[in-house]
Order: sequence, then C-alpha cells, then structure tokens
Amino acid sequence: MKPYLKRAWAEVSLSKLRQNMEIIRGLNSDSTDIMAVVKADAYGHGYDRVCHCLAEDCGIRYFAVSNLDEALAVRQLCPDADILILGYTPPEYAHEISENNIIQGVVSMEYAQSLCHNSKDKVRCHIKIDTGMGRIGLRYDTPAECAEEIIRICGIEGLSVEGIYTHFAVADSDDPDNISYTDHQQAYITDTYDELVRRGVKLEHMHFMNSAATCYRNDSRSTLSRAGIIIYGLHPDISLDIPEGLEPVMELKAVISQVKTVPAGTCISYGRTFVSDREMRVATVTIGYADGYSRLLSSKGEILVHGKRCRIVGRVCMDQLMIDVSDVPEAESGDIVTLIGRDGDDIITADELASVYGTIGYEVVCGISKRVPRIYID
Ligand SMILES: *Cc1c(COP(=O)(O)O)cnc(C)c1O
Repeated sequence: MKPYLKRAWAEVSLSKLRQNMEIIRGLNSDSTDIMAVVKADAYGHGYDRVCHCLAEDCGIRYFAVSNLDEALAVRQLCPDADILILGYTPPEYAHEISENNIIQGVVSMEYAQSLCHNSKDKVRCHIKIDTGMGRIGLRYDTPAECAEEIIRICGIEGLSVEGIYTHFAVADSDDPDNISYTDHQQAYITDTYDELVRRGVKLEHMHFMNSAATCYRNDSRSTLSRAGIIIYGLHPDISLDIPEGLEPVMELKAVISQVKTVPAGTCISYGRTFVSDREMRVATVTIGYADGYSRLLSSKGEILVHGKRCRIVGRVCMDQLMIDVSDVPEAESGDIVTLIGRDGDDIITADELASVYGTIGYEVVCGISKRVPRIYID
C-alpha cells in the first residue's frame, strides 16, 4: 500500500475523461473544434496527466488557461498545441508569450500596444469582446463600432490577430429572459464578425461557446467550443441536466482512523456545536478543510461508508472530521470512505456537495488542495 492511501487522495479517471471528450465532440458540429479549458490545474484534476491524455489520446489541439504560468506548463506538455491565455498577462512578459508561441487574449487597443512594445517577435492574439459579461474585453454600443476598433487593433505592427471571442454570462439558464440575454450576446459577436468580413478582415476564429452553450445552444458558427467543466463531467448549473454519458472524472477518498461508541450527551469537535442525543458510533476521517473539504460542511455534509450515507457530526477540522456510523456496524479503522464519488449504489458528486454549502461544483474541485495527491486510474 502506498503512503498516500493512508490518508486523503483524489482519484482521476482517464477513461472517463476520454469518454467525456468523445461525447463533447458529438455535441459539436464539424466546423467547431474543442478548446479544452485547463485553467486552475485542470479544474483541480492536475494538468500534467490531463493535458497529456487530452493531447495524446483525444487529439486535442487547442487549450485555454488563465495566465502565463499555466500556459508555459501546458506548453511543456503539448509542444504543438495552440494555447490561449484567457486572462491578464502583464505586458512586460510579452516576450515570453511570443517566444513560447502562446496566444494572448487582448482586451483593448492600449493593452495590445503595450504587449507589442515588450516583444520583438509578433504576439499572437484573440481579441476579447465584452458583449454582456461585464468582465474584460472591448465594449462598444454597436457591432459596427466594435469592428472598427478591431480593425484598428489589427493594424498594430507586431500583433497577429487570429480571432475574436466573447464569454456568456447566463448560458447555463433556461429562464427566457436569460436565454434572450445570451441570444443578444451571441448576435453581437456574430454581427461584429460579419462586419469585419464585409470590411475585408476574415479572421480564422470566432468563439463564444463555454460548457453551457456547448450543451444547450450549440452553434456551428463558433469555431471553438471552450469546454471547461463538462470535460470533468460536472454541471455548468446543477438545475439543468447535462448530456447523457458525461461522468464526473474525480473522486475524493479518505480513511477512517478510529471508531468509538459514545453515550448520549457527548460533545463532538470544536465549539461543542454537536452533542449526541443517543448512544452513537462515531468515526474519525482523515480529511479536513486544509484538504479543501470545506468547513461549511460541518454537521451538514454526508460521506459514503460501505455504500451508506453517514452524516458529518460537528465541525470539520483542519485535517480531520467526524461522522455518525451508527448505521454501518461494519465500519472500522482503516476503511476507505468516499467524500466525492460512487460507493455501491450511491454517489455523491462535487455538484451535490457544492449545493449543500451554497457554491458550485467548479469551486469544490478547484478547491481540493495541493496536499491531496491526485492518483490517475484508467
Ligand atoms: C473558464 C472559462 C471558460 C470555461 O467555462 P466552463 O463553464 O467551465 O465551460 C470558457 N471561457 C472563458 C473565457 C472562461 O474564463
């Protein structure tokens, strides 16, 4: 037995990852390629193995990351891929962008100019348009004005503009008002693209689909689908089903370090927030908030032990937590428990855990800390 198996670890299934990629490919039309979003260490799954699997086994050629550090890491793994930095890179680092053949998201004329001042080689870029997310990108009242500014940016020497893109704010909603908001965002970027074409500028890429759009409003005009969360088998929004066959890639496990039977009236964990109301079998589990298992799950979360759900009792500590195993008489020290994943007939997903404490599955998987080794299985 390996040492990590004695405490807390995350199992990442590469076969599920491959299966998810196949399903995502099936959602897209022939004119749309997948740009795998692997920011934040592949949403906590570990970019080394994930990128290797995506590039080698799934034939992925496009990757998106949040910053230069991540871009350089992916470049090491995928020497031939197109890697887009979605977020900010200080312009002083423009030479590293160009030397490593990275593509930078460009948010304004000024930013484009300062990038070029800092690189002797051409800087490849996609121009980001803010069509309603209100985060980053060019913002103009009309697509015609936006196209005009893009043409000016294309004129900057030292810049190679290869595409435009935008990001949807509510593509994960089936509310009619939100749908029309997204329609509007999409119409804005496609109109901008068409205006550019009318004015003689034909860019290779225009992309606007994230995971939600890829699932619910797939459109062949987006040359890339920037798929993130669905690669990892989670929901853009828990209230909407994702296409059949997409499965969570990561499971989170730990072990029971001790089991004891306590009488009624026993305080469990910090703050004495939990007091047993009857005789109870309590198991201590080797995972805590320093592993990214949120303290907000105190007395709320459930954990699978021998396929049965056991409730957390009292506060989640930094490295340990306690559960009620009264209904699982066979539970004993050394048993493996499942915090995220399947055990027997039951499953606890990162999405479910997220909804217990008011966040989204994205934050749960990204939040699994460095201390938790990622174990890759096929
Ligand atoms: C994170 C991100 C994505 C991926 O979003 P998902 O909802 O995970 O698919 C796509 N585009 C941009 C700009 C992003 O920041």
